[in-house]
Amino acid sequence: MPAFENTGATEDAASRRRGRPGGTRPHSERSSKLGPMPATVIVGAQWGDEGKGKIVDLLAQDSDVVCRYQGGPNAGHTIVRDGETFKLHHVPSGILSGKLCVVGAGCVVDPGLLVAELDGLEERGVSTAGVRVSGNAHLIMPWHVAIDSASERRLGKLQIGTTRRGIGPAYADKAARIGIRVQDILDPKILRQKFETALAEKNVLLERMHSVEPLEVEELAERMEECAVRLRPSVADTSLLVDRALREGQRVLLEGAQGTLLDLDHGTYPFVTSSNPLAGAAATGVGIGPTRIDRVLGVAKAYVTRVGEGPFPTEIQGPEEERVRDLGAEYGTTTGRERRCGWLDLVALRFAVRLNGMTSLVLTKLDVLSAFAEIPVCTRYRLPDGTETAEFPAHQSDFHHAEPVYESLPGWRTTLDGAESLADLPAAARGYVSFVEKWLGVEVSLISVGAERERVVAPHGLASVAE
Ligand code: GDP
Repeated sequence: MPAFENTGATEDAASRRRGRPGGTRPHSERSSKLGPMPATVIVGAQWGDEGKGKIVDLLAQDSDVVCRYQGGPNAGHTIVRDGETFKLHHVPSGILSGKLCVVGAGCVVDPGLLVAELDGLEERGVSTAGVRVSGNAHLIMPWHVAIDSASERRLGKLQIGTTRRGIGPAYADKAARIGIRVQDILDPKILRQKFETALAEKNVLLERMHSVEPLEVEELAERMEECAVRLRPSVADTSLLVDRALREGQRVLLEGAQGTLLDLDHGTYPFVTSSNPLAGAAATGVGIGPTRIDRVLGVAKAYVTRVGEGPFPTEIQGPEEERVRDLGAEYGTTTGRERRCGWLDLVALRFAVRLNGMTSLVLTKLDVLSAFAEIPVCTRYRLPDGTETAEFPAHQSDFHHAEPVYESLPGWRTTLDGAESLADLPAAARGYVSFVEKWLGVEVSLISVGAERERVVAPHGLASVAE
């Protein structure tokens, strides 16, 4: 197998940052002076779409490396920068700040979509030279996409509500040890052999079970070779690259996709994603030890949204849902479909604090609640046996039948435009934030009050958020 290129990329990045040409100081000298630097995880604390992209984009300014550790192109981050909107699917949000951006081993990559995303960024003047893709990440192949769509169709009413991008089937093949990995694109011969083996089985499945046209090895190999040519220079040993960055004292952000309640193991199964968004998975997904992570920022909206099927206790019933949806522009980044909207669920958020070992919370979209005179916040669930609990139910039937118990907090009914510090926020908005903090026992380190990067309030200063 050909050796990966680019493993020394962090040295070049660090040298660029310090204004030195690459490799001018021996590695041992640098490590002894700087020592290892801990990494920060940014994780979605709800059902995804919490506004993580904006927060990563903001914190990336002071970081050197930004990594995605799980998920595929279903995760869409929307970032508004100088009035321009960027929708990212594969590439970490740090790309807009010119950072080294890693797609880790825990991700699944659709080569065609990744190439299109890289080209799209380049066309808009964003350099993608800093993108590195782990050779161990798995590839989403056309049969995964076809099977995803076909099985959702077959499930009918029981469908999971996937984005039909082939992500689940690609992870399934990874677990079954029949997946094709990014490193396989380095050798066209190996890649072709793998296509032949895979299609011998997948075509039977496509034709017999899903009544879908079979795929041609020749056509597929040609199409993939075009992508491979473009992607080969970005394939790297990203575990080594991130380790070196940390040893050199660089700041590394590990960016999760989706959110806690969509975690394959701990989320609301089966209405979950096919990987582990939880902060604990950041270590395996990137290939570093858990001891290298010491800060976990959970990102939660000031209300809740959910895409697709599945139980949602605080879902708003009635016209206020539409109002939240419109004010918050709650339509999917990847699919454009309407998101279901609900009031803030502190039972679920407490669960997210616990599962992620959250060190602080980022509350986004507080501005969206400015329109409401009273804001319900769910602090407990009433279970089918009539008892109330502040802990997330361990049994799915309890969760499915949980009734939200609300406390009503006063709204502020005034714009949050121009708020730069906590003192600029209306008293009721400050009250809302401190209610959340007290209930969860976690500090709110950042409050987002608008889509643009500068529309944030950092109660203890921006520097302290990722220090
Ligand atoms: P992500 O996947 O977690 O990054 O979330 P999405 O990108 O799907 O959704 C976040 C959306 O909310 C994007 O359109 C952002 O531009 C927008 N956004 C982020 N923070 C705020 C905020 O504080 N207020 C408002 N109004 N919009 C925000």
